[in-house]
Amino acid sequence: MSIESPSDDPVAVNRCGDELAARLSAIGADVTRIPPAAALLPAGATAKAGHHLRARVGAGSRQILLLGHFDTVWPIGTLATMPIKRDGGRLHGPGVFDMKAGIGLATLATRVVHEAGGLGDAQIVMLWTTDEEIGSATSRALIESEASNSAAVLVFEPSLPGGALKTSRKGVGQFEMVAKGVSAHAGLDPGKGVSAIRELARQLVAIEALQDPANGVTLTAGVMSGGTRVNVVPADARATIDARAITRADAERVQRAMHALRPQLPGAELFVTGGFERPPLERTAAVVKLFELAKAAAAEIGVALDEGAAGGGSDGNFTAAVGIPTLDGFGAIGDGAHAMHEHVEIDALVPRAATIAAVLRSLLAPSSGVG
Ligand SMILES: [Zn+2]
Repeated sequence: MSIESPSDDPVAVNRCGDELAARLSAIGADVTRIPPAAALLPAGATAKAGHHLRARVGAGSRQILLLGHFDTVWPIGTLATMPIKRDGGRLHGPGVFDMKAGIGLATLATRVVHEAGGLGDAQIVMLWTTDEEIGSATSRALIESEASNSAAVLVFEPSLPGGALKTSRKGVGQFEMVAKGVSAHAGLDPGKGVSAIRELARQLVAIEALQDPANGVTLTAGVMSGGTRVNVVPADARATIDARAITRADAERVQRAMHALRPQLPGAELFVTGGFERPPLERTAAVVKLFELAKAAAAEIGVALDEGAAGGGSDGNFTAAVGIPTLDGFGAIGDGAHAMHEHVEIDALVPRAATIAAVLRSLLAPSSGVG
């Protein structure tokens, strides 16, 4: 089955959602389609995302949340040049690694646990969203409320190399910096002008002091523009800055400092907007405890589960930030997310599903001590 589902094409995404809903119903899940929420979008913007899917298995009071997304970064038509293809031990295709195989793994493991009668007084809720690749504006509130009702969250984003889980993810911020000056003729009247580009350049140098690379705090001006013609003192300049931090404290420090910036040149104005959309997934004691439980469950079936850190964010950042222990990277083993060589390791899929089932069974046990 080859159904493309780029985030910005709700019709295509819903086609994929229909197929997914049918498969989830087939394992006995109670499936609900949830319209994209407009609450977090900028004023005037319409929610342009497909319907999110919530699939509940069991009806117990304790809830385990399995989280992921079925939108991809690949536009419609990608399959023509990058088809689903088996090549030796690898399955190639747009979105297989990030993260459709993860949804398949979660579904299979849930089915196994359910059919073996392992749910007890608990329930598994799978939440498969449609806008993770574009910032999760229409799903964030849903993710946070579903997480708040859960004892633990497992995220089925791609694993680290070799299958290691992600117990730490950097927080991701984006800031827009706009400098305003006064335009003037660069030759006749330079003294009357105030250069917005000069103001912006000074600010970009100044914010380097906010970095702390040794502790994972970075600021990167990835895009900048300004001015109109070479012989005009520029009245406008702007830059977009990517910010990363491992701890919440660092993210808050950077955000405060960015908003406290003031113009350096007389007559210039400076406007800074934005912030950390995804707070860090911190490796807290609760996360470590959950990882130890998963590691022990995997060891029982002979699998050595490792952990590591990721520089990028996911929806697991939201669930961790509301205080629910979260383990990310439960998805497939492979490589090439967002890249032409995207693939998953076929031989690793069944052992991975077995590992997930073992972790779920352990988590669902009333004696797990989680939740
Ligand atoms: Zn993903």
